Order: sequence, then structure tokens, then C-alpha cells
Amino acid sequence: MELLKERILKDGIVKPGNVLKVDSFLNHQMDIPFINELGKEFKRIFADAPINKILTIEASGIGIACIVAQYFNVPVVFAKKAQSLNLDGEMYTTKVESFTHKKVYDVILSKKYLGPEDHVLIIDDFLANGCALMGLIDIVKTSGAVLEGAGIVIEKGFQHGGDKLREQGIRVESLAIIDSMTNDSLTFRE
Ligand code: 5GP
Repeated sequence: MELLKERILKDGIVKPGNVLKVDSFLNHQMDIPFINELGKEFKRIFADAPINKILTIEASGIGIACIVAQYFNVPVVFAKKAQSLNLDGEMYTTKVESFTHKKVYDVILSKKYLGPEDHVLIIDDFLANGCALMGLIDIVKTSGAVLEGAGIVIEKGFQHGGDKLREQGIRVESLAIIDSMTNDSLTFRE
């Protein structure tokens, strides 16, 4: 998506450890008219899919997912990073290794909000090694819901999480895929 690529080139900042900061428009301050355009684009891409629920993970996915959901007219459910696990059978649980915080989280989602009747679109801000997405996919599979695909704003293609998931037959659609990035150059996959 050209608009997104231009914005990344203009406002993105490459940090050590292969981290791209997009805090001025996506991850800290949120540019709502701009994110609306991302929402429209996801709706265009997934127009053929019978999506009735959007799933994301806290925290940075939530705001984006809510804006995207308005174009699908469906609810958003977000997986929570749990401090302690209360395994009373009411929750789906999985583990996710955080790329930015280098920590393993237990992630939970109430069984009330996802089940076999659901057709799910996963939305997230970044895809790097794919751990966050794999955790969410694991929850969708356990719930018996149908995974229609994953919509990612920025994929870091050089970390290969997206390619691994596509090889498994999962529909991963990223609005911008970065092939390489350094302090002074950033290239996108065509
Ligand atoms: P993965 O699990 O695919 O390795 O990483 C995805 C998660 O890590 C995303 O949900 C996002 O929050 C965070 N993340 C990964 N890479 C970046 C990055 O370069 N910049 C930012 N801001 N977040 C990232």
C-alpha cells in the first residue's frame, strides 16, 4: 500500500535490534484518518471472506483492530497477556514470546467470545518472527473457529515469520513488507 510505505519512509525510525518505531502515527500517537485508510484496504483485500469477528492481541493491536472492525461491522475480541494463569477451563491459553520485550507471556481469551461459529480475521500492527500470530492462530484452532486470514500493517519480511505461515497455507496479507532496513535505508518487497 503506497500510502503506508510513504508514511513509513517519512516518519519511521529504525532502532537497534531490528525494531522499527512508528510511534508518531501507529503505536503511540495514532493518526485516525490514516488508520481509516488501512481499514478500508483490509476490507477491500478480505471482501470475499465471511468474517464475523476480528481477533487481536493487547496492547498495540487493539486500537488498530477497532478501526478496521468498523469497515467489517463486526466485534473485536483481544487476547490478554496474563500475569498469572487461572486454569479453570473457561479460557483458551497459549504462550507468546514477545519480540520487543524478549519475554514469554501466557496469553488468554475467554471461551465465551470465540467458538466454532466464528470466522476470524486476525489483525496486528507488526509481524516479525511470527510468534504473536502463531499464538493467536493456536487459540483460533483450539476454539474450532475458522481462520479466514491475518491482516498485518507492517511485516518485516527479513524475519520470515510471514513466509513460514504462508507456507502452512495461512492467508497472511500485509499492507507493507520490509525486505531490509538500516539507519539510512529501508526497502520494501514489491
Ligand atoms: P513477532 O511475534 O512476529 O516476532 O512480533 C510481533 C509483535 O512484536 C507485534 O505484535 C509487535 O507488537 C511487536 N513488534 C515486532 N517487531 C516490531 C517492530 O519492529 N516495531 C514495533 N513497534 N513492534 C514490533
